[in-house]
Amino acid sequence: MAVVRWEDGDWGEPELQPVGPLSLHPASHALHYGSTCFEGLKAHRGVDDVVRIFRVTRHVERMRGSAATLMMPVPDTDLLAGMIQEVVGANLDTVPASPGSLYLRPTLIGTEPNIGAAAHPTTEALLFVLASPVGSYFANGEQALVLAIETTLPRTTPQFGSIKAGANYAMALGPTRRAVADFGADQVLFVPDGDVTETGAANILLLDGERVLTPKLTPAFLDGVTRASLLDLAADLDYEVEERTMHLDDIFEWAKRPDAEIALCGTAAVLTGVGELVHEGRRLPVGNGEIGPNTVALRRALGELQTGERPDPYGWTTPIEP
Ligand SMILES: *Cc1c(COP(=O)(O)O)cnc(C)c1O
Repeated sequence: MAVVRWEDGDWGEPELQPVGPLSLHPASHALHYGSTCFEGLKAHRGVDDVVRIFRVTRHVERMRGSAATLMMPVPDTDLLAGMIQEVVGANLDTVPASPGSLYLRPTLIGTEPNIGAAAHPTTEALLFVLASPVGSYFANGEQALVLAIETTLPRTTPQFGSIKAGANYAMALGPTRRAVADFGADQVLFVPDGDVTETGAANILLLDGERVLTPKLTPAFLDGVTRASLLDLAADLDYEVEERTMHLDDIFEWAKRPDAEIALCGTAAVLTGVGELVHEGRRLPVGNGEIGPNTVALRRALGELQTGERPDPYGWTTPIEP
């Protein structure tokens, strides 16, 4: 992993070190006052054996936004991008062949040892980048997801909706576990006050043979890199792409059509089809209940771009020299 500390108002020199336990003061800011955020991105081994990181700059920019919102020290773009590249370079041998990949987890935590610091930003911080080889998300075959709809609770508080703050995931856990227990759901779609946002860790797309629709960004939910990438790719594949305010009724109307597809997207699962919605205990199939052809085609196109099988006119991939 790559590690760097922030002390006395400045970043030190990042170092590569073996993954091992961190030594933290029990009064560390992050442990009490939630000063913690992270990113998740991947490096892919290409068909040409070249390892490429996907959209590193965009992930770094989002992490800088997360840090700023949490009043934490904001890592310089070059510092964090450099650490990510160093970690991939140091772990090149462990990057599995596609559809596996190397998952990268930059993490920032407040380390000021001060129980009295509830109302001020941390004066010390630790930034590290972990790497872990991951297999295909669909290794056990692919099942269409069951998506429960939550119309009362938001996923998290609106001012944290567009950042990857640790607290957001704790906040989504209760409603998600209840939906798993009560309805056998895989994920929860948060639709507070009838406005469609996203699930616990993925954005939502509506697809058919001609169109790709998704809720228009608001600060209340995450500007997913996979979402943005799939929208660009879809437009270039001649889908009509539309970002718009979406209400619960729009989802139900869409799902009724026989060729309707709904899918969830994010770095971990790429693009996963939803087969069934559950709302107030009632179950509603999406289209024919199967994973649809447009979901599969878009996912394949993104995978091909990440592994160099498809040209990258967007400059999204960063090759790492051995
Ligand atoms: C990480 C995340 C996503 C997906 O973002 P990507 O950049 O596509 O990985 C979507 N929603 C939430 C809440 C997330 O934490």
